[in-house]
Amino acid sequence: MRHIKAIGFDLFNTLITMKPAALQDALRRLTSTLKENGVAVEHGPFVKAHGEAVLAFLEKTKQDGKESHNRFWISSALTKLGHSVAPDEPHISMAVETYFSAFIQYARVIPGTKEMLSTLRGRYRLGLLSNFTHPPAAKNIISQLGLAPFFEVVLISGDLGYRKPHPLVFQELIKQLGVREDQILYVGDDPEADVAGAMQAGLQPVWTTYVRDNHISPAPGMLGPTEVDPGPEVVRISNWKDLLSLLDGNRYTEDL
Ligand SMILES: [Mg+2]
Repeated sequence: MRHIKAIGFDLFNTLITMKPAALQDALRRLTSTLKENGVAVEHGPFVKAHGEAVLAFLEKTKQDGKESHNRFWISSALTKLGHSVAPDEPHISMAVETYFSAFIQYARVIPGTKEMLSTLRGRYRLGLLSNFTHPPAAKNIISQLGLAPFFEVVLISGDLGYRKPHPLVFQELIKQLGVREDQILYVGDDPEADVAGAMQAGLQPVWTTYVRDNHISPAPGMLGPTEVDPGPEVVRISNWKDLLSLLDGNRYTEDL
C-alpha cells in the first residue's frame, strides 16, 4: 500500500452534521428578507417555485459538473412568480446571506472530530474540500465551529466553479496539498461525489458511514447522498477510531 502523506475531508455529514430544520428556517428567513426589501412574495408559493428552480439548476449541474449559486435559484423563482429581479441585484445577495445565516445555528461538529484532526495534524497535511454553492457561508461555518485551524487547505466548490465528483476540484486539492494523488486519502460520506470522485482522480477514498450508522438525519444538501453504495473494495469507516487504526495499521503508512 502506498505511503499516505495527506488527508482530504468532505465537510457535511463527514465532519459536521446539520439538523434538517435548518432548511425550513433558512427559507423562512429568505422570504422575510425579500418582503423587507419590497418584494411581495408569499412564503408557500415562493418555496414551491424555489424548489422547482433548484431542481432545474441541479439537473444542469449533474450534467456539466459546474457549481450553481443560490442567487440564480432565487431570481428564477421570483421571475416565475411575476417579479422581475436579476440575480445580481443587492437585495438578492442580502437574501442569500440571510438564508445561510440559519445554517450555522443548526450545524454541529461530530463528537471526537477535533481530537481526531488534532492527532493527525502533525503527521499529515490536512485539507477540506466541500461542495457548497456560497463559499462565504461555508467558510463562516468552518471557522465558527472551530475547524479552520486544522486545515492547511480549504476548498469550496463555489470558488472552484465545479462540484465533486468533477475531477477539476480534486486536481486543485492535489495541487494545493502538494503531494502525489496516490499519497492522499480522501474521506467522505457520499458514494458518488466523494468516493467515486476521489477514486477517479487517483486519490485513495475512505467512505465514512457515521451519520448513516447512527441514524442521524443527514444535513440537507442540494443533492442528497447517492443511494448506490461503493463496492466492497472501498474502505469503510464508521467512526474516527476506525480511521486512526487504519492509518496506524501500516496498511497506509508503509511503502510495500
Ligand atoms: Mg458530505
